[in-house]
Amino acid sequence: MNAVSGPAPQAPALGTSAQAVSVRHARLGVLGGGQLGRMFVHAAHRLGHRVTVLDPDPASPAAAAADAHLRAPYDDPQALAQLAALCEAVSTEFENVPAVALQRLAERGCRVAPAAEAVALCQHRLREKRLFASAGVPCVAHAAIESEADLAQPAVAALLPGILKTATLGYDGKGQVTVARADDLAPAFAGLGRSPCVLEQRVKLDAEVSVIVARGADGTIVHLPLQRNLHRGGILAVTEVPAPGVAPDLAAAAVAHACRLAEHMTYVGVLCVEFFVLADGRLLANEMAPRPHNSGHHSIDACDISQFELQVRTLLGWPLVAPRLHSCAVMLNLLGDLWFDAADGTAREPDWPAVLALPGAHLHLYGKAEAWRGRKMGHLTITGATPQRVREVAEAAAGVLGLPPLRG
Ligand code: ADP
Ligand code: MG
Repeated sequence: MNAVSGPAPQAPALGTSAQAVSVRHARLGVLGGGQLGRMFVHAAHRLGHRVTVLDPDPASPAAAAADAHLRAPYDDPQALAQLAALCEAVSTEFENVPAVALQRLAERGCRVAPAAEAVALCQHRLREKRLFASAGVPCVAHAAIESEADLAQPAVAALLPGILKTATLGYDGKGQVTVARADDLAPAFAGLGRSPCVLEQRVKLDAEVSVIVARGADGTIVHLPLQRNLHRGGILAVTEVPAPGVAPDLAAAAVAHACRLAEHMTYVGVLCVEFFVLADGRLLANEMAPRPHNSGHHSIDACDISQFELQVRTLLGWPLVAPRLHSCAVMLNLLGDLWFDAADGTAREPDWPAVLALPGAHLHLYGKAEAWRGRKMGHLTITGATPQRVREVAEAAAGVLGLPPLRG
């Protein structure tokens, strides 16, 4: 990549400072302006790049940090043309962006990572499960429920008790209903608007883990160490790295599955694969995200290359080097619930000074103007030399913030 744009300048005489050459900054774009986009902007800025955010929200957390904000819907043809003119390379921060928007940008000559087809695949739980099967990655027993008639299949009753999930647009446990008995199926399907669904067997989880990989256009693939995740109410609450209580062979299998999935899709970009670990030791793929993931936020403070820098590197075709975990880490998600007093529900500001007084505490707040229950407002990463130490400090932080104990 050229370091200088325009005609080659004449070499200045040694020792003079009269001449200047213009510096070339990569012009990057991101679809979506939430916290993931904001952390992408931070990583891109650190490398000297310029970033434009496309997001209809005037209060976008990413746009507040970016160089430019195109305020328009993701499928607005004019805005996409403008983004393509402004940017040489565009990524996405969430999978529910219309895949066709990425397609349009690619057609206009933008480098796009991940590609529209990969995003379309990860947007759809059934397509995703078909990919797991074709890549030889085991996943939870399930059935497609695309109409009322599908509910009567004998195979469906065998999956109960189960979880009915909309095939598209679900996140943070939304678009899901637990179904205990066959009689509950029809009302649950109606409650989800009779949109195409997948019914999954509800499995008994011993643990949840995730793997974040980054794959370059040249096929180079690197990954972050396996994360162990705790969800509360369908939303990620705690991530621990190194993953406690996970056997090395199981961790290696999860990493191998994630790499195989990225290769199978000839994926370019950052990909997160979530897995269930069952009591009998089985490892099942749950879902994929075609982007950095909440379970990789610790990498900003605990790794020498963060998942967001990996996103920038894959986008520009820059070298991928395996990130090194230099510290043990516990990440606590900070939801809007923390802005409400636990006793009487009145508004309160969490005690940040008390949190920041803890050793190894790295506080990230996303700059959102309003808090509500379940809204992701920030995260806190505790780093330290040993798993025991970070766990102790994270327990103390949870106590200060009024969060349940780590394994609670
Ligand atoms: P989302 O897109 O909302 O993250 P997930 O499918 O990952 O949807 O479900 C959210 C959480 O719900 C999971 O992390 C897990 O804790 C629980 N869950 C989902 N599916 C199952 C299942 N089949 N069996 C048991 N628990 C499940
Ligand atoms: Mg999930």
